[in-house]
Amino acid sequence: MNVFEKDKTFISGTYARFPVEIVKGKGSLFYDAEGKEYVDMGSGIAVNIFGFCDEEWIAAVTEQLHKFQHTSNLYYQKPCVDLAEKLCEMTGMKKVFFSNSGAEANECAIKTARKYAEVKKGREYYNIITLNNSFHGRTITTLAATGQEVFHKDFTPLTEGFLYADPNDAGQVKKLIDDNKVAALMFETVQGEGGVMPLSAEFVKSVTDYAQKKDVLIICDEVQTGNGRTGKLYGYMHYGIKPDIVTTAKGLAGGLPLGATMFGDKTADVLKAGMHGSTFGGNPVASAGALSVLKRIDDKLMREVTEKSEYVKAALLKMKGVKSVSGTGLMLGVETVVPAREAVMRCMENGAVFLTAKNKIRILPALNISYELIDRALSVLKKVLEG
Ligand SMILES: *Cc1c(COP(=O)(O)O)cnc(C)c1O
Repeated sequence: MNVFEKDKTFISGTYARFPVEIVKGKGSLFYDAEGKEYVDMGSGIAVNIFGFCDEEWIAAVTEQLHKFQHTSNLYYQKPCVDLAEKLCEMTGMKKVFFSNSGAEANECAIKTARKYAEVKKGREYYNIITLNNSFHGRTITTLAATGQEVFHKDFTPLTEGFLYADPNDAGQVKKLIDDNKVAALMFETVQGEGGVMPLSAEFVKSVTDYAQKKDVLIICDEVQTGNGRTGKLYGYMHYGIKPDIVTTAKGLAGGLPLGATMFGDKTADVLKAGMHGSTFGGNPVASAGALSVLKRIDDKLMREVTEKSEYVKAALLKMKGVKSVSGTGLMLGVETVVPAREAVMRCMENGAVFLTAKNKIRILPALNISYELIDRALSVLKKVLEG
């Protein structure tokens, strides 16, 4: 059996994979089993933040691998505390809980918000407001948080206590806060899976001010928007707000599984010994990778991300067959005349790999992708779109 057949036979059929087998990669290029070269405009869904097999990242990860690969959370270890310190320094948040994925980071945020509200306001204040068209993960609780019916329908009953408002409708959010007993408001600053839809500055400011007045916690899901993706370290930093909880994962460790839930002043000490945990959470190898990633997310890199973003947007808007471009930094959504998945398939045949989100082509390259490779990928896309 070849890889495609074996996958079909032995792997649960949850993924609609594209017909390509990745055998090795370097930077923003990778190769399939036949040796064909592809430009990667998806970075494993915003994970390989410095591309494939980045030398500095490999050095940090392997140095730790040669010391020890894992210890339980019963003992102390330096990579994870250094990483927590770095995250707090860079964000102004106060404490961190580490897990292994975005869903887990959000699960921890939800537990913390409920516990905070129980102690501060009473057990009945368990509701969490999220936005329609959001995506927060695949566990039963983070599915409930996800404001998209299509993800819910096969798995009811979901965790109760989630209320949904339309993005950019501050009136709806405020009414939900007024009419219900609410612990927290949770949102992505740019809805990623929902089609790369940034929230408006007025909306974010307005609901954040209102929530803070009512002691409703603000949770920013920065799983996809985080770690330099939007041209700032975290997406919320574009909005001048101070969230009570920030979650991240995807790009954090540059390609290893790691989730982080960061707590501000109000939430730093909500979780006490025994209330939460994760066997792999804060794994030293993943933490060493993450520390090396964060050390490189500086003003210079963020300026480069913003410049590349402008460059890509301008090029896209000049293409025939492009209806609109949305997004921030190197997280862009392209509405096209031809269906997105069809365009992405044809680009792949021609050596450029893009993602989709809803009915859009989604662009999430490594932050250090070269202009040369951007040009190459965009010229493939142009050919496909202009037919
Ligand atoms: C991908 C994603 C998640 C889920 O992350 P996993 O690591 O797949 O659990 C949660 N929230 C957002 C915004 C995401 O993009």
